[in-house]
Amino acid sequence: MKTTEDFCRVKLMAGPTPMYKLENVSRVLGKNIWIKRDDMTGVALGGNKVRKLEFLLADAVRKGAKTVLTTGGAQSNHAMLTAACCMRLGLKPVLLLKKRGVSDRRGNLLLSRLMGTDVRFVDTDSFEEINAMMDEIGRKTGEPYYTIPVGGSVPLGALGYVDCVHEMSVQAAERGVHIDRIVCATGSGGTHAGLALGAMLYMPGTKVTGMAVDTQEFDRIVPGIMRGTAELLGLEAKTDCEVGLRPAYGPGYALPSDEGSEAIRLMARCEGIFLDPVYTGKAFAGLIEMVRSGSLEQEENILFLFTGGAGGLFAIDFD
Ligand SMILES: *Cc1c(COP(=O)(O)O)cnc(C)c1O
Repeated sequence: MKTTEDFCRVKLMAGPTPMYKLENVSRVLGKNIWIKRDDMTGVALGGNKVRKLEFLLADAVRKGAKTVLTTGGAQSNHAMLTAACCMRLGLKPVLLLKKRGVSDRRGNLLLSRLMGTDVRFVDTDSFEEINAMMDEIGRKTGEPYYTIPVGGSVPLGALGYVDCVHEMSVQAAERGVHIDRIVCATGSGGTHAGLALGAMLYMPGTKVTGMAVDTQEFDRIVPGIMRGTAELLGLEAKTDCEVGLRPAYGPGYALPSDEGSEAIRLMARCEGIFLDPVYTGKAFAGLIEMVRSGSLEQEENILFLFTGGAGGLFAIDFD
């Protein structure tokens, strides 16, 4: 078996991200709630995509790419973070963002503009079409280019979260705590897949629950990425893995939900931490719901993976 150390990687993170118990939230919810601060991954406003990009952009550099193309929704954190990481590495980012939902140039669009990023809006919802457009634009540059599918949720990117579980297993051991369950937001599936595979390897006995913030078929997508990542690592591909998934999309992807907004307020008022409306607010709302409905009865320690997304807070009207 290989480990993540056997893969090419560019260093973008400042070091391990903090992991600690949320004392006030734990008191309010009557459970031990821990947090892993992947909003502090050290590039731009932080977020989970940096861990994936350490592997993906290393692959781009190794292949001699000059231009890196990626895609996402109008307020994609992934696209903005890809651009920011490209700034560090001297690569030229091109972002093809879905036109739907663009109402102004706030949030992540403002940040991309500050970086002078080539942002193009595309009038389609099909990532297949967008992937073809990325190739066409890449080919026209006449130089080697690299494309990253939505969210960086490909097997190579998911290695970032296999590695994150290893990091958390060390931190949990240092703190003398057994984590019963990790909860994350599932948006394109790579984070969830990496965590689930990482838990099998480094934190057996820890469950992973992904809160689906979109209506895609994650019960098919997540195991698919897991199998691809397992193959990269030379592991037996597990086809029978149990994927913990719960719906948390509310009215739909990127549309704020009442439960999500309540979770954002709770975290802000208890801990001075700002969740985002698209991913982490909804995921934390799902965790609160699990606590309140008694589904976590036997579990002592729940870890919430805070995957970032601050830019999104400044792109919505919030009251
Ligand atoms: C992309 C993203 C997620 C979801 O991660 P996936 O690997 O795409 O499922 C969660 N939180 C934030 C803030 C994100 O930007």
